[in-house]
Amino acid sequence: MHYVMIGNGVAGITAALKIRERDRHARISVIGGESDYFFSRTALMYAFMDRMNPRDLEPYERKSYDAQRIERIRGWAAGLDANRKIVRLDDGREIAYDRLLLAGGSVPNRAPWAGLDTVRDGVVQFVSLQNLADCERLTPSTRQAVVAGGGLIGVELVECLVHHGVEVDFLVRDSWYWPVALNREEGAIVSDHIRHCGVRLHLEQEVDRVTAGADGRVSSVRTNKGVEFPCQLLGTCIGVRPAIDWLKSGAPGLALGRGIKVADDFRASLPDVWAAGDCAEFTRPDGGSLLEQIWYSAKRQGESAARAMLGDTAAYRPPLFYNSAKFFEIEYTTVGEVTRAPAGATTFFHRVPGKDASIRIVENEGAVVGVNLLGSRWNHKWFEKWIAERRSMAHVVANLHLAQFDVEFGRLALESVRAAFQSAERRAA
Ligand SMILES: Cc1cc2nc3c(=O)[nH]c(=O)nc-3n(C[C@H](O)[C@H](O)[C@H](O)COP(=O)(O)OP(=O)(O)OC[C@H]3O[C@@H](n4cnc5c(N)ncnc54)[C@H](O)[C@@H]3O)c2cc1C
Repeated sequence: MHYVMIGNGVAGITAALKIRERDRHARISVIGGESDYFFSRTALMYAFMDRMNPRDLEPYERKSYDAQRIERIRGWAAGLDANRKIVRLDDGREIAYDRLLLAGGSVPNRAPWAGLDTVRDGVVQFVSLQNLADCERLTPSTRQAVVAGGGLIGVELVECLVHHGVEVDFLVRDSWYWPVALNREEGAIVSDHIRHCGVRLHLEQEVDRVTAGADGRVSSVRTNKGVEFPCQLLGTCIGVRPAIDWLKSGAPGLALGRGIKVADDFRASLPDVWAAGDCAEFTRPDGGSLLEQIWYSAKRQGESAARAMLGDTAAYRPPLFYNSAKFFEIEYTTVGEVTRAPAGATTFFHRVPGKDASIRIVENEGAVVGVNLLGSRWNHKWFEKWIAERRSMAHVVANLHLAQFDVEFGRLALESVRAAFQSAERRAA
């Protein structure tokens, strides 16, 4: 049996290792166009800030692939012939498979801005190792940068540039930072903090036109409000989409939507083909489509897809949403549904006076459904447990000390949270 994974990201590599755990004899190959070895994409910023060597981004020792007999094939898949069970690479090589996992992840969204096609250099994204190399090449000759896009990748690129002494104008289209994940109050805390770190943050502004200098390098950006920002580097961080372009014409019969359409056992529409990670699109029970484009989900999906490829029948049920990140110095943890909580849900929000720290708890029909936490580190497992047990807001507030990591700096003052909760309760009564 030859198992082939396309994509050596966390979904593809996790699947390969999981299959090896269960099948000592199978041949396992992983095709990757971006890098020879799996690396942690979420740590890209630490390499850019010189806090980690590129080699330290690799979670596994290089020799472990040989030890696990996982064959690494460097190259870009360009075609899939499901009748012949062949993957064709863009250099003409053909790889035969018995069972195939598509785990190509995401690519950055294309920016639609006028003038971009005339720019030959200075425009970067921040998703791949090649993007990192571009950023590292251009930063020493950059005094001013514009970064467009108010999400997680945008703020990471901004932080890296600030770290290297670059002046940054950060354009966020929405009226507060990252509204898909944060409410207005948390958006304001993060915005104030970003500004405090020396960034010129411009809300409700987006790129309208990009101009190049005589040397072809970006020289300025004009926004929808007519403001012109001179720059030698423009970061386009306006979201990602599943990396499925090569499949649109290269894989006859494969059902595609926003991503690769899969059933809840990760099966794609072609025989012996599965998909997992950022590129896999599930159907929600209400008929909507679901893409889970975060690290923990890609890892979990890689494990579950491997089990499905080995013949297990268990269906994938997306777990409760959890994510964590950092906005410069502000820790962020989210569990469950917050900005997309059901209509009629009630919220308790408290900002710790004088701190870039807050807590939001959302309750629906007497049970907590989600939390958003800024400015302190938390063990998300407790919130998952309380949500699964349908605990009340009062129960969660009374037990917050169990979930708070004991860190030297940045513990949230729980007395302040509890006092605020009690007075909010009294007001409600
Ligand atoms: C800067 C940055 C920061 C992030 N931070 C966080 C975070 O803090 N928390 C979080 O949860 N998530 C974060 N993410 C998202 C997270 O990294 C992704 O959800 C995760 O990497 C998805 O894993 P994957 O294996 O599906 O795809 P990927 O990691 O994208 O790996 C897919 C691999 O397949 C390769 N590939 C694609 N097409 C082909 C082809 N045709 N042939 C050969 N190879 C191909 C790609 O080049 C890539 O190497 C971040 C992402 C970025 C870019």
